[in-house]
Amino acid sequence: MAQIYDHYKNIPDFPEKITEKKKKPKLMAVVNEGNCTGCEVCVPFCPVDCIEKVPREKYDIPIPPVQIRFNECIGCQICARVCTQLTWDAIEMMPTNKFEEKYGIGITESKHPAYGIPIKS
Ligand code: SF4
Ligand code: SF4
Repeated sequence: MAQIYDHYKNIPDFPEKITEKKKKPKLMAVVNEGNCTGCEVCVPFCPVDCIEKVPREKYDIPIPPVQIRFNECIGCQICARVCTQLTWDAIEMMPTNKFEEKYGIGITESKHPAYGIPIKS
């Protein structure tokens, strides 16, 4: 029994209330869809409630992976800790500038628009 409790002691608490982004974060959560089981264990831990299922139109499979509304993410790393500790290892925390360069998505100071602004090259 003690081993089970040891395993769970590093799990973050659920957020007391859902807040929202106030500034551009330094880190961005990125789901590796190939590793994500779609279990949704990470979802209730996010303090800004920005994790959602990938829409059916993208993958018509019974249990799709989750995705992040990037521009709402505050980079707190809680989802990555939860995923690693409780389920799998499907969320990478990436420096925001690297994320913007890699995916061509601009992250703003406010949470709108939800998925960020496409950067034209
Ligand atoms: S906890 Fe991990 S595996 Fe489960 S839905 Fe979240 S990212 Fe995917
Ligand atoms: S790092 Fe994860 S838990 Fe934190 S705000 Fe972003 S998606 Fe939500």
